[in-house]
Amino acid sequence: MYDYLIVGAGIFGAVCARELTDAGRKVLVIDKRDHIAGNIYTECIKGIQVHKYGAHIFHTNNRDVWDYINRFAEFNRYTNSPIANYKGELYSLPFNMYTFNKMWGVITPDQAEEMISSQRAAYIEKLQISVPSSSGSFTPRNLEEQAISLVGTDIYEKLIKGYTRKQWGRPCNELPASIIRRLPVRLTYDNNYFNARYQGIAIGGFTDMIGRMLDGIDIRLNTDYLDPKIREHLDQEAHAVIYTGAIDALFDYKLGNLEYRSLRFEEELLETPNYQGNAVVNYTDEETPYTRIVEHKWFEFGKDSEGNDIPVTVISREYSHEWKPGEESYYPIGDEKNLKLYEEYRKMADALPTLYVGGRLGEYKYYDMDVTIERALELIDDLLRRPS
Ligand code: FAD
Repeated sequence: MYDYLIVGAGIFGAVCARELTDAGRKVLVIDKRDHIAGNIYTECIKGIQVHKYGAHIFHTNNRDVWDYINRFAEFNRYTNSPIANYKGELYSLPFNMYTFNKMWGVITPDQAEEMISSQRAAYIEKLQISVPSSSGSFTPRNLEEQAISLVGTDIYEKLIKGYTRKQWGRPCNELPASIIRRLPVRLTYDNNYFNARYQGIAIGGFTDMIGRMLDGIDIRLNTDYLDPKIREHLDQEAHAVIYTGAIDALFDYKLGNLEYRSLRFEEELLETPNYQGNAVVNYTDEETPYTRIVEHKWFEFGKDSEGNDIPVTVISREYSHEWKPGEESYYPIGDEKNLKLYEEYRKMADALPTLYVGGRLGEYKYYDMDVTIERALELIDDLLRRPS
């Protein structure tokens, strides 16, 4: 008999499994997929670690989490510096002095700030003529107004408008302003996308990292907890269950589906050593059907595990589309309607005394890996404090 059955061998389930095992509990991990590591799964193709569910870069400000994850992998010095391609014009991301120099030819931070401020002021003035505000203050009513009021018209038109439309499937003036409360604007020549103290890619791939977390722990793959026949047996094998799958699926969508945006990846192995010279290139115009192309080898500087140059390359074109039941869920929509529905499911889950629901799908939240680890450690801390 196991103390805990952990449903899902992603990073949330793996941290729970490791911590419980190290505390002397007997654990079984299952996953419905044929591999461990959940969405951070990487597969080695011709010496290249391919991120099968989208590009993943570990980044955190939390020293404890950084120390924790370094127990299971060595991290390289990769710094995420995506490039935006707007109809063949290339810009640095996130918006920084390189971007502003390319866009306007400005050299100093003051000149860049002045440019953004004047575009912002002109836009707000134009808007207020069409929508007079009684108080005189300007409150953006949608994402377009929010974005332009933060970064001006040029950056919005070339780097935000088309990309966001593709990402969310709707024009920016039909999306809530809340999606981009802030837009990082750096008045320095700094292309580092993540403003984090610690950052890198697990050398040898994230799958191996999760493999080390699960070392010595019983694992069953191709095992779907929600298959009634399988569940009946599994529930008898363990005293308690930690479930990291979708919370609505757990209750057979009784109250309806939670909504997501989904992604499709078109992967290609190319007989060339260098396709785009960077790991991530975003296509920010509206006409290009994909949002970005990831060239996986550059996460590890184009080298294989022995440090040799790799003569071929693997790219993934990423397409964003509306999620339908049965498809992989990637980004929670997280609007008022969905959050309300989630709260209802959460109450149902909390009422089950030996079942704990967590992870990105269980909590219906976009969590980076570092926060996922924090949440898993919190749950286990709580469980281990309870009288057994
Ligand atoms: P998952 O990885 O989804 O694991 C859940 C597991 O449960 C899956 O393996 C699933 O098969 C299994 N499961 C579900 N239902 C069942 C069932 N019924 N029976 C058995 N098994 C089941 N984070 C970063 O820190 N850096 C990044 O650069 C980054 N990039 C991202 C890019 C994209 C496109 C997306 C969508 C996310 C990104 N993230 C990134 C976030 C990262 O993917 C998550 O933090 C992480 O995957 C969460 O882990 P998890 O264990 O909660 O979920």
